[in-house]
Amino acid sequence: MTGFCHHNRTTPHHRAPHRADRADKGYAVTINASGRPAGHPSGMRGPVPSGALPAGAAPAGVLTAETVLGPAPASPATATAVDSTAGGGRSVALTFDDGPAPEDTRALLAVLRRHQVRAVFCLWGDHVEAHPEVVREIVRDGHELAGHSMHHDDMSDWEPERIRADLRQTNAVIAQVVPGVPVPWFRAPYGNWGRTPEVAAALGMQPLGWRLAVGDWEPPGTDELVRRVMEGVTPGAVVLLHDGGGDRSQTVAAVDRIIPELRADGWHFDQPARRA
Ligand SMILES: [Zn+2]
Repeated sequence: MTGFCHHNRTTPHHRAPHRADRADKGYAVTINASGRPAGHPSGMRGPVPSGALPAGAAPAGVLTAETVLGPAPASPATATAVDSTAGGGRSVALTFDDGPAPEDTRALLAVLRRHQVRAVFCLWGDHVEAHPEVVREIVRDGHELAGHSMHHDDMSDWEPERIRADLRQTNAVIAQVVPGVPVPWFRAPYGNWGRTPEVAAALGMQPLGWRLAVGDWEPPGTDELVRRVMEGVTPGAVVLLHDGGGDRSQTVAAVDRIIPELRADGWHFDQPARRA
């Protein structure tokens, strides 16, 4: 399958030279005027964060299985997509969709290890079945997991029962590969949420949105990707990137540059989290 994951099918993917243009045209910042991810149903913000998610400060690669399993969530998932870190400020959360892919995901893991950054990997069920060993490497490095559906279908008009079956199958496939490892997040393919948030929440997965996507599916070149992230990042933003679904070598190279550049500008890396 060679599909890409542009997460905003109603938006043209043209390049625009200025950030304001990009935001106006929804090309890079894929949230709507209400601040929710495009396509997300309206709803109240979730309650105070559970604190169940491990803090992002821990360096990657040192977490044990016990740490990964962690305590049970202190509060249930809600149907409101999380698109920010807990603390806000000059923090940013990196999330990677459509993997695992043997080459690019492994290269990305090496980059994240080297820079000691922990991320969220939104797993495509078919790819989990194809590359289970890469999922184990993701978990071994202490990253968090999200379900991203079994086959990367557009679920926007699916009934809850069909969504539930797909999400449960995806989680079962993940559980076969990494038994007992939680999947605290769900991200809908293409950001076409439909009724997936309520179903995911009922299954204990928090919908995971984003505040910045940079078109790494195009792909526009490593320099351009770095520029788009550096210009588009906002305090507490969840950033959407891709490690699978196509050649993501530019993304990997860009992340290797973005992390030190952001840190040099005073940013730090965190995990997504609910907040009041
Ligand atoms: Zn995707």
